[in-house]
Formats: sequence, structure tokens, C-alpha cells
Amino acid sequence: MSSTMWSVEEHLKDILEAVRPLEPIELQLHDAQGCVLVEDVMVEIALPPFDNSSMDGYAVRVADVEGADEEFPAVLTVVGDVAAGSDGLSGGRVLGPGEAARIMTGAPLPAGAEAVVPVEWTDGGTGEGPAAAMRAHSEDPEASGGEVRVHRPVGAGAHVRLRGSDVKPGDPALGAGTVLGPPQIGLLAAIGRATVKVRPRPRVVVISTGSELVQPGEELTGGRIYDSNSFALTAAAKCAGALAYRVGAVTDDAETLRATIEDQLIRADIVVTTGGVSVGAYDVVKEALASVGDEDEEGGGIDFRTLAMQPGKPQGFGSIGPEHTPLLALPGNPVSAYISFELFVRPVIRTLMGLPEVHRPTLRAELSSEKALTSPPGRRQFLRGTYDAEAGTVTPVGGSGSHLVAALARADALIVLPEDVTSAEPGTDTEVILLR
Ligand code: AMP
Ligand code: MG
Repeated sequence: MSSTMWSVEEHLKDILEAVRPLEPIELQLHDAQGCVLVEDVMVEIALPPFDNSSMDGYAVRVADVEGADEEFPAVLTVVGDVAAGSDGLSGGRVLGPGEAARIMTGAPLPAGAEAVVPVEWTDGGTGEGPAAAMRAHSEDPEASGGEVRVHRPVGAGAHVRLRGSDVKPGDPALGAGTVLGPPQIGLLAAIGRATVKVRPRPRVVVISTGSELVQPGEELTGGRIYDSNSFALTAAAKCAGALAYRVGAVTDDAETLRATIEDQLIRADIVVTTGGVSVGAYDVVKEALASVGDEDEEGGGIDFRTLAMQPGKPQGFGSIGPEHTPLLALPGNPVSAYISFELFVRPVIRTLMGLPEVHRPTLRAELSSEKALTSPPGRRQFLRGTYDAEAGTVTPVGGSGSHLVAALARADALIVLPEDVTSAEPGTDTEVILLR
């Protein structure tokens, strides 16, 4: 154990220097959401793949509707239907002079046609309605038929989405380093990619410790409390982008904890524990992990240290097991555990994912409180607050107690009071970490 105090930056730097982005793997599109692409994806097909109609209407030759208006409509013979998914007019028929083909949105422009007249610019035609033709999904020319009166002229290419007007073969689709959100996943699917090479989501195992802990839903007997840390931190890990596995509370028994961690290593890229890291008689995490480095020939081990912060003073960090899996041992108080997670575990998860931004956004806001806030000297204090973007203010919620989970649940920001600050007057320009 280190005897000196670590600053928040020193601890964070020590942690981040020990972790590298995970090796890329090929993932199905829906599993790749939120992941960072590690390949340049090129387009291999044209989008749209063929000229197609952007409206329900009639495919026509431009010369046939020239000068058409309500009084003197162009009267065209309807020679067939072109539905989405069909391959033009049946039998590869070419649209001739004086002819029109009923066409649905997304259907390929039939050979011979130059533009589409929206159905609203016609009398609707005398054949069966477009809905009936759609239902029949027929390529039989007999399915439509009749005539259509066109009330307005159209220019060449009107209401036609040209082949390749979105992207062309050989165009770059997405570059390495892109974070795959819904539109990017949509583009990959549109160009026919089923899988992509990305850095995977880290697997985070969350283990809470404490013989006093009871799982929610069970009866609370004397002296016991519900285990909230494992739930909050599993949720926070998912929020950060990880695949999170919650391991219910382990009793304050070093052997049990050691065995549990060992069992969990198989599915962990990071292990997070809560509780048992201070100086009490039952500080099980310390007891179980302080010696693991000794058994590991290649070094490793967990270092327990004191941080110049409040809450979150006792912290453990190191690696464990044959793969040197990073382990962060967070303090047990729920607010301490959560803030420690936000400050130290979240950046680890995001570094493993190769994300460009690993930290929560910070900004400055005016402290809006009734009285001055006090902060211990030499410690960076993280108070819970609500941030008002419009007013540019941050208001404390609850006190500084690290057991105040209800106040934490109402907060959306952390108010940061630096080490050299012992008191902050209302109106002070303050650092704020946004938690959303
Ligand atoms: P410890 O660091 O283990 O001494 O825990 C510090 C405080 O946090 C004690 O009051 C514990 O009961 C509480 N605590 C520890 N773990 C949890 C947990 N998983 N959920 C809620 N409270 C906890
Ligand atoms: Mg404990």
C-alpha cells in the first residue's frame, strides 16, 4: 500500500497507462452499435442501385405530356404496372409513344420512360387503383390497363431518383475511427454489409462486497441493507458502452471473494468491486487482493491507495489473473462508488473501446446555492448538483454525505471544488461534470 496521497489525475493516469484498446473483431451490424470501426468501408454497389420513382404515379415519356394542363390533359394508354421489387415492365417491354406505366415509389423506372408524373397530377387513371395493383403485386400488363389523363407536364428525370445519386461503387462509406450510431449502421446495411470490423464492447464484471447486503426483492432483516452498488455500477457500465455482468453481493470473506473473482475472470475485460477497501476490520477486498501480486510471477497485483478526493478516498487498482485483467476496487458507500466509477472506470471502458472521447463532458457554471459550500482542504470535492443550461447555473442537491442515494438520483451533474478551495460562495464560477 502506498502511504502518500494520490491526486485524482495521478490515479487516473496510472490506470489509463495500463489499458490498451481491445483487439478488433468482426461483428454483426446490430452487435456493432456504439462500437468504433477499425476498417475503411468502401461502397461496392450504387445507391440507389437503379433509377427509381420517388412517387406513386405514372412513368411517362416527356414529349407525351408536354403542354398538358387541366383543360387539355395528355391522354395516355396505361400499359402495365411497375411495383417496388419488380424489374420494370413485364417481359422487358419498352414504354412507347402515348403510353404510361403505373409506378409505385421505389419501383424501377421502366425502359423508355423519362420521368414520373405523381398520381396527384393525373385523374388517377381509369384502370384499377394503384392500391389494388400493389395488392396484386402483379407484373401482368392486364392488371392495370385503361387510360390516364395527365394535367401537368414534367421535365426529364422528374420524380426519378437516379442510380448512384447517393453513393457509387468505390466511394468511401465510413472511415476507420467512426463510432457506429444508428445512421451509420443503416448505411452499412443499405450497401449490403452484414458484418464489420470493430473494437468490441468490454465485458465488465461488477462484484459488490458486504455481509450486510441483501438483494432487492428479498426481506430486509435487522442491520442489513439492500445492495444498490452492483445495480448502479452495472447500469453505469452499460451506459459507458460495456457489456456488464452483475455479480450479487459477496460476503466479507476473503476466500469466497477470491474464488468469486477467479470464477469471473473468464468473462471479464475489467473487474470492478465495491466496498471493503478502507481500514476497517472487515475490509475483505484488501484482504483478498493485497497479496495476489505475490503469486503472479509476471508481477501485477492490486495497489490500495488514498486519494485526495471526497468522496472516494480509498481506491484499489491493479491487474489480476493470467490475462492481467484490470481490476478497480471502489469504495463501498454508494455515492463514492458511483463517482469513482464515473471518474475512473468509465474512461477505462471507453479506452478499451477505442472511443475518441473517454471522459464525461465538463463545463463551467455559476454556483446557485443559498449559502456557501464548504470543502475539506487538500481534497477535490465532488458534490451532486443539477445543471441548468439556460441559466448557466448549477445547484447542489443533498449534502456531501456519501450515503445520500436519493440526492444522487435527483442530480445530473457533479460540482467540482478543487483541492485549494475550502469555501465556495454563491455565484462562484465552478467546474461541472455532466452526468448525462
Ligand atoms: P465498506 O467500504 O465496505 O465499509 O462500505 C462502506 C459503506 O457502504 C457501508 O455503510 C456499507 O454498508 C455501504 N455499502 C457497501 N457496499 C454497498 C452496496 N453494494 N450497496 C449499498 N451500500 C453498500
Ligand atoms: Mg463492506
